Amino acid sequence: MRAEIPKTYNSQEVESRWYQWWESKGYFRADAKSDRHRFVMVMPPPNVTGSLHMGHMLNNTVQDVIARRKRMQGFNTLWLPGMDHAGIATQNVVERELRNEGLSRYDLGREKFVERVWKWKEQYGGIILKQIRRIGSSCDWSRERFTLDAGLSRAVREVFVRLYEEGLIYRGKRLINWCPRCNTAISDLETIYEPVESKLYYIRYPLKGRENAFVEVATTRPETMLGDTAVAVNPKDDRYKKYKGQTVILPLMNREIPLIEDAVVDPEFGTGVVKVTPAHDPADFEMGQRHNLAQISVIGEDAKITSDGGPYQGLERHEARKRILQDLDKQGLLTRTESLKHNVGHCQRCRTVVEPLLSTQWFVRVKSLADEALAAVESGRTEFVPPNWANTYFQWMRNIRDWCISRQLWWGHRIPAWYCDGCGEVIVSRTDLERCPKCSSGKIRQDPDVLDTWFSSALWPFSTLGWPDKTDDLKAFYPTTLLVTAYDIIFFWVARMMMFGLKFMNDVPFSTVYITGIIRDAERQKMSKSKGNVVDPLEICDRFGTDAVRFALARMGAPGTDIALSEELLDSYRAFATKIWNAARLIFRHVDETDRLPTLKELKQSNLSLVDRWILSRLSRAIEGVNRSIEQYNLHEGARHIYSFFWHEFCDWYLEMIKLHPEQSKPTLLYVFETALRLLHPFMPFITEELWQNLPHHGESIVIAPYPEFDPELVNERVETHADLVQQIIVKVRNIRAEMNVDAKQMVTVRVASGDADVTKILSDAREYIFKLAQVSHMEIVPQLSGDKLAAQAVAGGLALEVPLAGLIDVEAERVRLTKALEKVQSEIAKIERTLSNANFVDRAPKEVVEENRRRLAEYQDQAMKLAEGLKRLG
Ligand SMILES: [Zn+2]
Ligand SMILES: [Zn+2]
Repeated sequence: MRAEIPKTYNSQEVESRWYQWWESKGYFRADAKSDRHRFVMVMPPPNVTGSLHMGHMLNNTVQDVIARRKRMQGFNTLWLPGMDHAGIATQNVVERELRNEGLSRYDLGREKFVERVWKWKEQYGGIILKQIRRIGSSCDWSRERFTLDAGLSRAVREVFVRLYEEGLIYRGKRLINWCPRCNTAISDLETIYEPVESKLYYIRYPLKGRENAFVEVATTRPETMLGDTAVAVNPKDDRYKKYKGQTVILPLMNREIPLIEDAVVDPEFGTGVVKVTPAHDPADFEMGQRHNLAQISVIGEDAKITSDGGPYQGLERHEARKRILQDLDKQGLLTRTESLKHNVGHCQRCRTVVEPLLSTQWFVRVKSLADEALAAVESGRTEFVPPNWANTYFQWMRNIRDWCISRQLWWGHRIPAWYCDGCGEVIVSRTDLERCPKCSSGKIRQDPDVLDTWFSSALWPFSTLGWPDKTDDLKAFYPTTLLVTAYDIIFFWVARMMMFGLKFMNDVPFSTVYITGIIRDAERQKMSKSKGNVVDPLEICDRFGTDAVRFALARMGAPGTDIALSEELLDSYRAFATKIWNAARLIFRHVDETDRLPTLKELKQSNLSLVDRWILSRLSRAIEGVNRSIEQYNLHEGARHIYSFFWHEFCDWYLEMIKLHPEQSKPTLLYVFETALRLLHPFMPFITEELWQNLPHHGESIVIAPYPEFDPELVNERVETHADLVQQIIVKVRNIRAEMNVDAKQMVTVRVASGDADVTKILSDAREYIFKLAQVSHMEIVPQLSGDKLAAQAVAGGLALEVPLAGLIDVEAERVRLTKALEKVQSEIAKIERTLSNANFVDRAPKEVVEENRRRLAEYQDQAMKLAEGLKRLG
């Protein structure tokens, strides 16, 4: 006996053994000098603060299935891993730590603080990379990168300087989104709009020089009125034509402001008159530019009223709102208040309400970059899977606004700009400066801000390969082949990689973008901490086995489709792994040291039985299906092909049928099982390596063994039809035995009706399988069935068959048993029907409960039909 594996499949034990060995053997390492076809992916770099969640698990499973198959197919495969420094997220973590010590980052100062973040990173950061190994991801760790690496930082600087020199980066005073809690500007994308229950306030603005004449404006943010520099109406709004050119007095501030006309004002909103606050609202900012209005900032970065806010100076924004409303009310200028649900911007990081503020920041002028990135997808140079995501991309790209890239943080790539106090020059430089190149003054300061963390991730596909140097890696691996990512970062990341890749590498960063769905709980709800339904991937990997979790995700994850993750689902794929394990144990019983793996040529030349030719034909079709599906990114279809082959053909039929002639079938058995393990390996890497190593095989590891290829010569339609007929007869006889309660030890006789000589031959040749697998002692092939009353009849593969029951069962006892069973089922049916006919229940009960009742009803009805048939047979 050659191989011995434990009786029960212990996934944790099996999985603990292989990854380190694979890594130490260098199997995942790509070769920049190789002339083999290449397959390249960069991993979406997880945050250094992160730990593995189900989204990563799905994303990694998809990437790993694809990468492992390509590697086995002989591609020079690079899957480059790494991490993102995650500016604001990481800074927040360390600031929280400091707060617990009663300190703030200002107490430490910039240098000490950044040191402290690096220390945190060394100690706690990057847990996620260990977890990514744990789930089997076959990345090339020798090329691991971090966005704050020296090399990547150099790339960031180079890009910044070049864009600045071309006028595509500028510094300007613009309206930006400010998070008063994080104390930094954030981009439009980091501002999350959520509906908030709020109020719409109607406020009277007196017309200048008229007694008791007002226009009434409606606003959700009365505190910003301190900075109003106009009121506006739509030029087509007849109600206000008479006020054209008039001036109004801004209440509380007693400032004169003009009444202007602008087409963006919606006459349907409120009264049709709006206040214009260019320094605190994006639409007003633009209106202000059109009409040359002053910009008065009345709310500061600390979210308090500034010195331009008159008597309200120093008040926090919510307090200011309260006081302003009270004062307006006292003066009789607040006429009414309505409830209103409207969208308010919140900080993506900390959920604080964002304040639109005028601020001097750095921006990327994106229009020309976006146009090229748009064209590259329109022309198909880069494709989205599924293709409808391209529309989302187009829509955003067509409406793109300049990208605010400066952040008032300390953790990140510092902006390479210096300000000279001597001559006022602004110098953007590749190297750090000590003196002003213009006036030689030593009084220069570097810009204190850092870059948006997405700026460095936008360079990821080429900065990780050594750019701006012309490295071997860059030559060999850019552009990459495939990017696998989630839809929530198409704008943050995918679009920006497209823009920068085209700009700096003159080529798209990837040919295909595969968008995964998201993982929901069993009730299809989004997972969230507040709902308490978050699933920890490592915990379920421990419980169900990593291979089973990976297989479940691949099987359920059609591109772009969300997955409802349930215990039943995971359980069923754990059962799949166990099924394979048990099949292996059975096979290993027949294997000894003298056995070797036959070649396909040897098999083809030998005299194969019907079942051997059948399983080779089915294997071949499975190989074709799996390859075609994965090639089209339909991993779920690939998983389905392999599952149904392994379980329903190989285990259910082949292993049973060869019990008749195990020695004769052994070469085919070994060949098929070894091939099927290789076919399955990308989905279930651990269990397949474990079993493969215990089988006769060629090579060192299944990781680098060849991936099975479709061989049309092995497909045999005739053999499949014959085998199918035999299997159907076995199934039908087994069903009859079960339904009629025939004792398991009792042999039966079968009569099959056919006048076809071919059929007669097939069935005679295969009779031993029918005898053995359906407990048949005698089979007759007759022109017509006898019409025997006490015989159970069925149709198999188009042929009528019958099993005579006389003497096999106690007809009376059987009649009593079936009658009782039928009565019980019928009473269940009546009960459920009553429930379902109650309109109250159907309307009010949760949908799943109603569905469950309908499903049970159908099941009982099916049982009732079978029982009634059984009774009829008894006459
Ligand atoms: Zn914030
Ligand atoms: Zn100077």
